[in-house]
Amino acid sequence: MAELSRDGGCACGEIRYNVTQEPLLSYCCHCTECQRRTGSAFGISMQVRAEAFELVKGSPKARTRIADSGNAITVNFCDMCGTVLYSASVARPHLRVVYAGTLDDPGVVPIQLNIWADRALPWVHMDPEIERIPGQPNLADYIKL
Ligand SMILES: [Zn+2]
Ligand SMILES: [Zn+2]
Repeated sequence: MAELSRDGGCACGEIRYNVTQEPLLSYCCHCTECQRRTGSAFGISMQVRAEAFELVKGSPKARTRIADSGNAITVNFCDMCGTVLYSASVARPHLRVVYAGTLDDPGVVPIQLNIWADRALPWVHMDPEIERIPGQPNLADYIKL
């Protein structure tokens, strides 16, 4: 597999990261949590192997919350500007979920799914070519490791 370089970071530049492999799965999430986290209409998530995610500058702070699944999720953010950068699930320590709006070029992310589509804001228009799931799918079903 060709290794692509994908750089990203927080709004203030204190935290920088690099993703060194193709994402395993990329999707837009229209859930309430993602709307609050981003202060916007939806979140863009990119799941990558843990070893493909490298912090190259700064040390994010972490907070842990319990997801609807009951699993603990650690969310990593910049202490200076508050940008939420990525998360990891205790249940899936081999993966990182990069919040892809923090990439320098989020346009490179090939979106495969729209999840929690039943919570999408009324003026959000989704590409009919992209699979649409009303709630939360088992994302592991879409990942080939
Ligand atoms: Zn920052
Ligand atoms: Zn979400």
